[in-house]
Order: sequence, then C-alpha cells, then structure tokens
Amino acid sequence: MYNPKSLKAEEFISDEEILDTLEYAEKNKHNRELIEQILEKASPKKTGRGVECAGLSHREASVLLACDIPEVTEKMYNLAREIKKAFYGNRIVMFAPLYLSNYCVNQCVYCPYHYQNREIPRKKLTQEEIIAEVTALQDMGHKRLAIESGEDPVNNPIEYILECINTIYSIKHKNGAIRRVNVNIAATTVENYRKLKDAGIGTYILFQETYHKESYERLHPAGPKHNYAYHTEAMDRAMEGGIDDVGLGVLFGLDMYKYEFAGLLMHAEHLEAVHGVGPHTISVPRVKRASDIDPNVFDNSIDDDTFAKIIACIRIAVPYTGMIISTRENETCRNKVLGLGISQISGGSRTSVGGYAGYSADERPHDTEQFDVSDQRSLDEVVKWLMDMDYIPSFCTACYREGRTGDRFMSLCKVGQIQNCCHPNALMTLQEYLEDYASPETKAVGEALIAREIHNVTNPKVKEKAIANLEAIKNGSRDFRF
Ligand code: SF4
Ligand code: SF4
Repeated sequence: MYNPKSLKAEEFISDEEILDTLEYAEKNKHNRELIEQILEKASPKKTGRGVECAGLSHREASVLLACDIPEVTEKMYNLAREIKKAFYGNRIVMFAPLYLSNYCVNQCVYCPYHYQNREIPRKKLTQEEIIAEVTALQDMGHKRLAIESGEDPVNNPIEYILECINTIYSIKHKNGAIRRVNVNIAATTVENYRKLKDAGIGTYILFQETYHKESYERLHPAGPKHNYAYHTEAMDRAMEGGIDDVGLGVLFGLDMYKYEFAGLLMHAEHLEAVHGVGPHTISVPRVKRASDIDPNVFDNSIDDDTFAKIIACIRIAVPYTGMIISTRENETCRNKVLGLGISQISGGSRTSVGGYAGYSADERPHDTEQFDVSDQRSLDEVVKWLMDMDYIPSFCTACYREGRTGDRFMSLCKVGQIQNCCHPNALMTLQEYLEDYASPETKAVGEALIAREIHNVTNPKVKEKAIANLEAIKNGSRDFRF
C-alpha cells in the first residue's frame, strides 16, 4: 500500500503506485486541459515573501513527461527555463569528483569496480596520495569535491573515509582550500552517518540506480548492495544521523525511464513528508562505457532529447532541488540541458583513483576509470565556455559553512531569497578563481562578466559590500561570503 510517510521502501516507493501513475500519465498525455492546469500550477508566482513555485506531484509530472505534443514540450522547456532563472539565475556551481578507492565487494553489473572484474587494478589512495590529489585539485581552482569510494568494509571502512575527509579539509595549498566535501559512499548505518556529519560533510549522495525492485536485485546480484530496502531507506538513516542535505539520483538506462522518473519524485516526496525537507540535489547520470561494461547491453538507454525532457520535468516538479550533471555527458549535451535546470556541473574531472596528481591537463590515466569521461576539457576551458554563454561559474560553498542546511536552507530557497547570497557569492568566488587560477584569456572574459553582473545584485547594502570584497580579493584577501 502506497504511503509516502512510511519508512518502508516498498511502501514509499510502491510499485503499484508507480504503475498506476504510468497508466494515468499515458491516459492523459494528450489531455490539453489537464496539461495546461499542471503547467499553470507549476509556474512561478509572486507573493508577499518573494517568488514561489508549487512544484508538482509525481503523477502530474509524469503526465508532462509522457506528453509528446511538440508545442507542449516547448512550453515545458520555457517553464523550466523560467523556474531555473527565478531560483538559480545564470549561476552554475562547479565541483570535481575525487575517487578514493575502487575496492568494492558489490557486483553492480553496470560498474567496472564490481567485485568480479579481474581486469581492473585495485587501488586505494594513501593519505599522502590524497594530499597530492587535493593539491592538484586546488591548483586547478576547485573548492568543492564529491568523494567517491567503493564499498569494502576491510579496505574502505568508515574510519578510512573519515580520515580522508579530515585530510582533505586540512590541506591549504597557496590560496587553495576545499571548503565543502560531499560524500558518495555506500548505504550505511545511522551511527556512521552521524560520524560523517561530525566530520563536516556537505551533501550525502547516494544514487538509487533503479527504483524497480526486481531490476535492482538483478543488477545487484550479490554483496550488501543487493538489499533493495536497506539501500532505498539509506536517506532516512542519513537524516536520522543528522545529515540535513541528501542527494538522490538514478542511473538512466538501467530500467524504463518513466518508471525511474516517477520513483525519483516519490522518493523526494517521501523525504519531504517524513523529514520536512526534500532532497538537496538530484543527479541525472546515464550508463556509460567502462572496463568490462558495454552500455549497449542495457536496452533502456535514452536519447539526448528524452534526457533533456527528463531534466526539464524534474526542474518543474522540484524547483528547489539543485540538479547535477557530470562529465559523463559531452559538451553538446551539457550545453543543451544547462538552461533547462542544471545548477551544478563538474569540470576537469578524472574518474580514476589517483587521476589528478602528476598528470597534465590533457593526460588522463584510464586503468582505474569508473566510466569514460565525455567532456575532457580542463576546468579553465569549462569556466570560459560557461562565461562565453553568459553563465556565472560559481565556486561558492557558503551555505553549509554558514549553517544554512536542510530546512534553514529550504526556507530561504523557497521564496527565492537565497539568490541574495548566491549571486554575490558566485561573483566573489569567481573573482578568486580569476586571480589565482585562470588563464589570461579566461580572466579577461571573467572580469568583464563580473563588471556586468555586479549591477544585478539588487540589495544596495549587499552590492556595496560585494564591490568592496571584490576589490579586497584583487588585493589578496580570500574567502568572503554572504
Ligand atoms: S557502483 Fe559502487 S557499489 Fe557498485 S560496484 Fe561500483 S563502486 Fe561498487
Ligand atoms: S549561497 Fe548557498 S545555495 Fe547559493 S551557491 Fe552558495 S552554497 Fe549554493
């Protein structure tokens, strides 16, 4: 029986409810009156507190996703762009993944780190190697990392992960610092989540991979990850352990995308219903080629247009949730979806264990790569590319450091007020990047962008302070934030 408030996976991600939703969506996919009502409900509205959006239920959003009328799709894209603009402006937050270890006891059939893959060398970073990797990342200009590790209680116990986080935060090379460490590790216990919280992590990220239980069990034939309920209920344990910000995601291509889409939104609704705060981010990875992995084996792959539509529908349904896209996607695809709702992208990424230190910008080790990187540009190239399209690359990490997490963050976000922080923070952190890491060409483009964008800071006091801070950054000061 479907119950978003239940703590049992099979009740808050009810297969029956998803199938009913898909049937309802199919039946109504050409119901213009209903579709217009749904689009109207989701449109941003001005209220006394600011701009607000109602979002959509999984049923409503599934109708939009099912609709194949080109003119409605265009309307959806325009609405997604409008919502993106209202809550995220033209900012894109930058991050990089850091792979700590590819030892893994699971057998996820889509991942080259699966236990039975004997072709791949196994590697785990020592603390010295982490210092070298993080120094290389800092020298590129990164301030925000997502750490990744396989599940292996012997090689990668929680103590190892905690030690790595501690090391990462302690490294200060030149003007560099990692100011936010997001963590993407296997589902674990409340006690371990509490330890991660105490270590000062930002978001805890765990991809569901697929919400379809039978497929899930088939795709994870052995290892602790085989347990669907334990995996699906992980975010509840993370929140019980005190982690306010959690990041959801499915691996598109494993099962039917419409099923995954409904499941993903039901998961978001469940978090909101139980914990009063929805997911902080949603990631939208697609299955990629890697050692021992042929993506063609998965017959549910989605084309770029469907992918874009999914992103637009997520943006409309959960307007306050950040959306992340990685270097799994190429430049053309990233370009297409940025305006539709993506708020965070990785840049200059290496998806192997020890992929940063000792390699030049165009060299990359492939031996331990988790997946093929489609966008192989350097961070400087990605930053310039964004700015050439009038986006503001942001290295901001302010919220977590100011204690604006969970419902404190959402209450500011839901009335569009977080923009008063995001916008000047983006400009100040971009200025730091330009001073410390950018190529002369990127710096020139960035200076011009900041000069234009500073006039869009609406609050006069904030604007005045931001201008003073930008000047101070040029004179050597660092780490200002609102
Ligand atoms: S997806 Fe994660 S848990 Fe599964 S094999 Fe890869 S590293 Fe291990
Ligand atoms: S102010 Fe907060 S929400 Fe805005 S970019 Fe910075 S960390 Fe993100």
